[in-house]
Amino acid sequence: MADIKPFWQNYVDGTWIDGGAGKIAVVNPGTGEHLAHHALADAADVARAVAAAKRVHLSGALTAMRPVERGRMVQAMGKYLLDHIDDLAPLLTLEQGKPLWEARVEIQGAARYFEYYGNQAETVEGRSIPLGAKYYDFTAYEPFGVSGQIIPWNYPVEMTARSLSAGLATGNACVIKTPEMTPITCYIYAHAAEAAGFPPGAVNILCGYGHDAGAALTAHPDVRQIVFTGSVKTGIAIATSAAQNVVPCVLELGGKSGAIVHQDADLEAFTDNVRWGIYFNAGQVCSAMSRIIVHEDRKAELVDRVEALAKSLSVGPGLDRPDFGANMGPMVSDGQRDRAASMVAAAEAAGAKVVTGGRKMNQPGAFLEPTVLSDVTADMVVAQEEIFGPVVSVMSFKTPQQAIEIANGTPYGLVGGTFTQDIHQAMADAQSIRAGQIFVNEWFAGGVETPFGGYGLSGYGREKGREALWNYVQTKNIAISIGGGAGRS
Ligand code: NAD
Repeated sequence: MADIKPFWQNYVDGTWIDGGAGKIAVVNPGTGEHLAHHALADAADVARAVAAAKRVHLSGALTAMRPVERGRMVQAMGKYLLDHIDDLAPLLTLEQGKPLWEARVEIQGAARYFEYYGNQAETVEGRSIPLGAKYYDFTAYEPFGVSGQIIPWNYPVEMTARSLSAGLATGNACVIKTPEMTPITCYIYAHAAEAAGFPPGAVNILCGYGHDAGAALTAHPDVRQIVFTGSVKTGIAIATSAAQNVVPCVLELGGKSGAIVHQDADLEAFTDNVRWGIYFNAGQVCSAMSRIIVHEDRKAELVDRVEALAKSLSVGPGLDRPDFGANMGPMVSDGQRDRAASMVAAAEAAGAKVVTGGRKMNQPGAFLEPTVLSDVTADMVVAQEEIFGPVVSVMSFKTPQQAIEIANGTPYGLVGGTFTQDIHQAMADAQSIRAGQIFVNEWFAGGVETPFGGYGLSGYGREKGREALWNYVQTKNIAISIGGGAGRS
């Protein structure tokens, strides 16, 4: 890997700029070593970015063109990502920690968003509404103008792609606030937007503190739509701020998602789902399988299998793990790792059994052992709060009704799953689990095409799929009087 540039700037109105709030040190969580500095935006930088985006919107540069043209430009951004994946993937691993193969998966996933929403750009059609002979009435969907997007550190490239692709496809100009811990890789979107032909100001990318640049973006009166992925606490702060300007938000706030494993489930296949469900990205996934709710008759066998899986993972720096396999990288920071380890210790003190793992590893970097907890009960903090780490809690049930009660027994509702050979049981669970997405016999089944978002504290609005497009547009109704006189009824 070539030397990394020591200082990275923000991108505002087509120009690279330093930050009004100084700079922040980015740490490589795989080694604990300093990686680079990144510019930190202040409120004035945010205001410049919003003004540039507003100017682009008012110019009609994005809205006057035929949507198919805009769609091709969005698709070109995805192709740009793929063309640069060999440079970008190691950088993503260095700043976020994930194994190199996972970084490639993330970038490919990001490119897929641009492909999908580029395709959708020309499908955002209105309809005509019959009002009798004296009128012609139709609806049109228009972009909000300036979309403000606040990105989390777990998937900086893919989460940016998710909102940026849909925002641009629908004709919005975008201001992206990148995460403080993983701000570097998002630079690629500046180059991708330029290469695709977007005018300066259509895509702005700034790193800054949440309480400073993030808060300034969500409070700015010219930002007319906000997309946020992150914690519940911050989501509430953002929604409260947006409400002052009567601005709609899409909030994706994580979860405590449970997989119900019935008596008849194929445990070998299920264990493979656990590998992805809780150890992918070291468990730092909003839709992670953080709880396994297993029938009591299968609990011992399941715990043995998941223990063996956790112990089989080779844990270490992501650059040393280029190939798909039984491996895992560090968490994003020592702080996140220590928080997860302390939640495991608290669970043990509350009566849970640490089957394996739970401790920070004795090496530099933010490593936590892949962890399995059993004998977890619904009232424990570990069963209620998001850990956001490689920690799975095993709980057991006697009756299907009890399984649903446990699955629904948290304030969250992002995803849920059921594993059974019985289609009737699967359908009953799918109807009863209170969550925005249900997986039957495959955790993470679905794709960019399928709507994703939460019930309860997991948020509101939907990302992904055609459904997400309607969050980026507002409906205008146009009624034309053609009857030569009043036709009111
Ligand atoms: P966070 O919610 O504080 O930060 C996410 C983003 O919001 C960052 O870009 C941050 O700068 C920004 N932000 C923070 N305060 C803001 C404000 N007042 N106004 C506008 N923007 C603001 O999350 P975190 O502190 O990085 O992580 C804490 C916990 O959040 C994690 O342990 C995890 O449980 C959860 N989390 C969930 C997801 C997810 O995908 N759902 C992602 C990241 C974190």
